[in-house]
Amino acid sequence: MPSAAHNLLIHLLISISTVGSTLSPSPSLTFLPSQTHAAAVDFGSTTHSLPLAVLLPSSPSQISSLILSALLSPPPPPQTSSLTLSALLSSPPLSVSPRGHGHSLHGQAGAPGGVVISMTGGGGRRRMSPPANSIAGNMYVDVWGGELWIDVLNWTLKNGGLAPRSWTDYLYLSVGGTLSNAGVSGQAFHHGPQISNVFELDVVTGKGELVTCSLAENAELFHAVLGGLGQFGIITRARIALEPAPQRVRWIRVLYSNFTSFTRDQERLISLHNQQRFDYIEGFVIAEEGLINNWRSSFFSPSNPPVTLSSIGGRQGAVLYCLELTKNYHHSSSDSIDEEVEALLRELDFIRGSVFTTDLAYVDFLDRVHKAELKLRAKGLWEVPHPWLNIFVPASRIEEFDRGVFRGILGNNTSGPILIYPMNKDRWDERSSVVLPDEDIFYLVALLRSVVPGSDDPSKTLEYLSDQNRKILEFSESAGIGAKQYLPSHRGPAEWERHFGPARWERFLRRKAEFDPSCLLGTGQSIFHPSSCPFSSFLSPT
Ligand code: FAD
Repeated sequence: MPSAAHNLLIHLLISISTVGSTLSPSPSLTFLPSQTHAAAVDFGSTTHSLPLAVLLPSSPSQISSLILSALLSPPPPPQTSSLTLSALLSSPPLSVSPRGHGHSLHGQAGAPGGVVISMTGGGGRRRMSPPANSIAGNMYVDVWGGELWIDVLNWTLKNGGLAPRSWTDYLYLSVGGTLSNAGVSGQAFHHGPQISNVFELDVVTGKGELVTCSLAENAELFHAVLGGLGQFGIITRARIALEPAPQRVRWIRVLYSNFTSFTRDQERLISLHNQQRFDYIEGFVIAEEGLINNWRSSFFSPSNPPVTLSSIGGRQGAVLYCLELTKNYHHSSSDSIDEEVEALLRELDFIRGSVFTTDLAYVDFLDRVHKAELKLRAKGLWEVPHPWLNIFVPASRIEEFDRGVFRGILGNNTSGPILIYPMNKDRWDERSSVVLPDEDIFYLVALLRSVVPGSDDPSKTLEYLSDQNRKILEFSESAGIGAKQYLPSHRGPAEWERHFGPARWERFLRRKAEFDPSCLLGTGQSIFHPSSCPFSSFLSPT
């Protein structure tokens, strides 16, 4: 450990215990290699950013104390340091990054050389209020920012048969982690992303202040933090919108060989917002013969016969598209569900004879990816590098994307699921920090590819898949598609400025200067660092 950082950290440890109300040493800050090494890696497994220490907070005030200590503490006295006083006085504050469940892809929740706040560790977790009603009649639950969505679901189901309205496909993600990005799944076309389903937040800002914010109170901070990539504050409490939980789900998949019909149907379905609509709309690309039955593995129902390309009129090397839909229902309406689904499907232009359906409990549908996780874990294929790429593509350019990427760059080798589904921009709040394409309808294209360790197929290597990602981004840039990365990964302010575009970048800078003027927070995103902070609140000695 470099001596300057070591000395600062020792000082920090002492100050955390004194800035707060207690004089006892802080048990929540740890240097244990088991903790720091665990915080150095993430789901992507392509980066390693070792922090000096990890905070396991049990309250917002411990987080605030850490930040105040990092900001305000004078450096350690010269006799404890091998540095000169002048060098110490000019040392920037340590960086501090909130980390949820560490399911980022490129070290975004890391704090190389700084302190990681482990929101899912510590005593903060499992702090959830009983669901309640607001004065306006909205049902909500208050949860700790490090709570996992699966636990929120189990809690709200148990306490009143309620559930959040908007989801991600996978529930072992933290509330703070998805709210710092957006949180999207097949419900987003109607309910908006998870960030559109939050009424209020408690946030510890980069100035160490604990602030409650909402649309009505401290609105600028509220908007900044939602989709804010952990740059403006640490979410310690979120008030999440709830609805009565459906009991059952009819889950349907239909196939297309024609991309235009596939996207036309998807866009028509997301325009429906009345009762006669599906509740979840996604889709995926099937570019490999081997995948044609694999994609049904978590879905299989004995009533659905196995399919081959030729049995549905496809030809070798063709790319197929699978539209995935659900309709929620209660036991009391199980008599009419078949009819409702049939009426909705009748309007669609899929390959006749390619309707696959299954029926399951709502919670089993929401938790479906966990089943796939357990299978992959058993085969040693979960903790492998994940060079995932997520992009928002404007609807007007999606055909070009299909030609250039699905039927171009990828060939017939996908190395993992490729999701594609549209969303309505009017369900997003433009005041949030998320960056979206300039169109009313845009698609999420998620290339969820994994490296297969030990494979002798060169197309399963990190190098190959990363190179394809680079080509996809270059294609999209050179064709002027106007796509934006979701869960973005960029290096340094210049790349980030391009990502945001001039007006959003100007707003981002203004918000950063207001809420984290020392650039202490979220250095794993590689936007700013305390040592090169343009707002420069740490000063060299004069
Ligand atoms: P982390 O990786 O720990 O953190 C992510 C970012 O949020 C970091 O910048 C971090 O500093 C910041 N952060 C974390 N906690 C807080 C907090 N309390 N306050 C402020 N900032 C904080 N995303 C979707 O939208 N839809 C999906 O369907 C979806 N499916 C996924 C499936 C899998 C298997 C995986 C691995 C990821 C998936 N994701 C999906 C992406 C996921 O939403 C993001 O990676 C998310 O950030 C993960 O949450 P986390 O708790 O692991 O966050």
